[in-house]
Amino acid sequence: MALTGIQILKMLPKKNCGECEIPTCLAFAMKVAAGQAAIDACPYVSEEAKQTIGEASAPPIRTVKLGSGDGAFTIGGETCLFRHEKRFEHPTGIAVRVSTSEEQAAVDARIKRFNDLEFERVGVMMRANLIAVKDGNGDGAAFADLTRKVLEQAPRASLILMSDNVANMKTAAAVCGDRKPLLYAADDGNWQPMGELARETGCPLAVKGKNLDNLVDLSGRLVESGHKDLVLDTGARTMRAAFEDSVVTRRAAIKEKFKPFGFPTITFPCEMTDDGMMEAMIASVLMAKYAGIVVLSDIQGEILFPLLLEQLNIFTDPQRPMVVAEDIYPISGPGEDSPVLITCNFSLTYFIVSGEIEGSKVPSWLLIKDTEGLSVLTAWAAGKFGADLIAQFVNKSGITDKVRHRELIIPGYLATIKGELEEELSEWTITIGPREAGHLPAFLKEWKPAK
Ligand code: SF4
Repeated sequence: MALTGIQILKMLPKKNCGECEIPTCLAFAMKVAAGQAAIDACPYVSEEAKQTIGEASAPPIRTVKLGSGDGAFTIGGETCLFRHEKRFEHPTGIAVRVSTSEEQAAVDARIKRFNDLEFERVGVMMRANLIAVKDGNGDGAAFADLTRKVLEQAPRASLILMSDNVANMKTAAAVCGDRKPLLYAADDGNWQPMGELARETGCPLAVKGKNLDNLVDLSGRLVESGHKDLVLDTGARTMRAAFEDSVVTRRAAIKEKFKPFGFPTITFPCEMTDDGMMEAMIASVLMAKYAGIVVLSDIQGEILFPLLLEQLNIFTDPQRPMVVAEDIYPISGPGEDSPVLITCNFSLTYFIVSGEIEGSKVPSWLLIKDTEGLSVLTAWAAGKFGADLIAQFVNKSGITDKVRHRELIIPGYLATIKGELEEELSEWTITIGPREAGHLPAFLKEWKPAK
């Protein structure tokens, strides 16, 4: 049963030393109880307490780390059914499959696309995460060679090795060394030797059931024999069945604490259709409904980008707005006669506004005021972007050392505070900028300092 913060506090050393990067033991205990901090972060807690708290505060879906170094990727660790209840912890991994049964050129092109396709959005670099290497023709040497190629050519990829042949899997896993691939998969026929291989290599192990009952049986056996880092494949190969299984397993793990389903899942849209767009649609459905990994047959920009956006949307913390730091941001090398604009620190606002300024090619200073991640109007309504606070920030920001003029461009939506702001910043001319960021380029091209 989950422990409360007070119960956890009783087991802490109460030094209030802050070495866990949280100022007090009480605050740390509350964070551990809420699943926002790991008990290991306190170096002084006893082993006994660590075990008790660790077990009680472990998420109902185990956190499983795949790969290592630059290619490390973590899945699972989930604690709720719906994002608004708390947040989803680890983004669904997007994997692309390559197989020994395919032409070299096709494989090379897919690896290249894996490496090349990356997109920046609100300051986050987004890309596919894993490559699934399939033993497509049962040739162990070819499987090892392809694994080696992927390791060399895609150092940022976390690997999934796909074979039901234990000997072939062993050879390919040896090639991976400490890259710790996910071994896919233990099934009814090979679960013991495949489990043994996972134990020897320290790799996480995927378990493939024929159906949910078979998966419960297999997962239970592997857990009983001491395996912890499992990833589940329910065996479903239609969208409807995969969707239903996904909901059933997640609900059983979260609501009933059903241990055999207490692991992240892997799904295969690439095996559910031959149509690329349909495959992307299935992947997006499964991503929205709890898939730990979706394996695609290929990645093209038009398929990957919307999936990455969905990944970004679902896996941001709804309780914590995305923010950028309060600061002066120079855009396109501004000088002392460049315009000075101000806006809030909601990251979407920042990236849209800074993007439009950059696009205008007018070198500018952009002041970002901390509004706790609220957008312009919401921040103003909440009293976090009023004239007095803006004036305080402008005065302490150091912008007066950077420009000769004294003209501040405020968002069009703040037009009502112009007079008040002019009183607070008596040396400054306050100019009302456009309401929409899209109108900034034209506005800036016309701009001349007032004084
Ligand atoms: S490191 Fe441990 S003792 Fe120090 S404040 Fe954190 S929980 Fe308390």
